[in-house]
Amino acid sequence: MQVILVSRRMKTAKAYTIMPRHLLAAAALFVALVVAVSGAATWTMRAAARPAADTVVDAGERHVANNLQLLAAHVGELRARLLHLDSLGDRIAGLAGIGRQAPAATVQAGMGGALIPVAPSASELQRELDRLAAEIEARTDEMKAFESGLLERRVRERLVPTALPVREAELGSPFGIRTDPIAGLRAQHEGIDFNAPSGTPVLAAADGVVQAASWQGDFGNMVEVDHGEGLTTRYAHLQRVQVRPGMLLKRGDPIGSVGNTGRSTGSHLHFEVRVFGVPQNPARFLKQDDAYAQLKRR
Ligand SMILES: [Zn+2]
Repeated sequence: MQVILVSRRMKTAKAYTIMPRHLLAAAALFVALVVAVSGAATWTMRAAARPAADTVVDAGERHVANNLQLLAAHVGELRARLLHLDSLGDRIAGLAGIGRQAPAATVQAGMGGALIPVAPSASELQRELDRLAAEIEARTDEMKAFESGLLERRVRERLVPTALPVREAELGSPFGIRTDPIAGLRAQHEGIDFNAPSGTPVLAAADGVVQAASWQGDFGNMVEVDHGEGLTTRYAHLQRVQVRPGMLLKRGDPIGSVGNTGRSTGSHLHFEVRVFGVPQNPARFLKQDDAYAQLKRR
């Protein structure tokens, strides 16, 4: 192809021959231009579509705020559970007869006004969580104290002679001053008599350790049991003794049988309770056994 360019000013004309390679070069240049322009456009569009740095921060903050709100809800739940635990502790303490120190009340300053819910800050939540953790630890310690208190009480009760030493019996002479059945004189009766046929089983009134099991003159065959803290019980006039000193006894364990040994006018059990050697009225202890109230009096 030939192109003739005419210059009016110079009044000249110039002929150019356009070869296929020129056309090829022009096409290549055009394609390169199109690619460059579309690339730039894509980059610009992508840049526009990409969220601004500010938007990223906002989304992050929203996420954190949502999490804080969730945490705050959990903290509220914990608080409610702690309150429940508190009232449970009160009830248990009441049942166990254990004095309970009122938990330190959270003093709240007088405030008021419209409620504008605001998500708590992370540090506020952390403080509240620390406080709750400390309170839960305190409650745990308290519950442990209740447990050992209850256990102690149970042990103590088992060590107190409250179980009837003979199941099938009639009440004979009570504790106190009476006319002695042999001498006919007024004398102190330091125990309770249970009238029962010879051979009736005699049982330990509480847990303890056998202190003596031997012939004791007027008391005949006698067993003495130590229950600790100065408390002892005596079982006298026994026909048969089936324990030895040092033996451990549980409440209700058989220790022998009713007899008529020693200074006695008939088969009966003479039962004593002593505190540091001082005779006590056994009725005070035995009345805790329902069977005691149902015993017939002679
Ligand atoms: Zn007696």
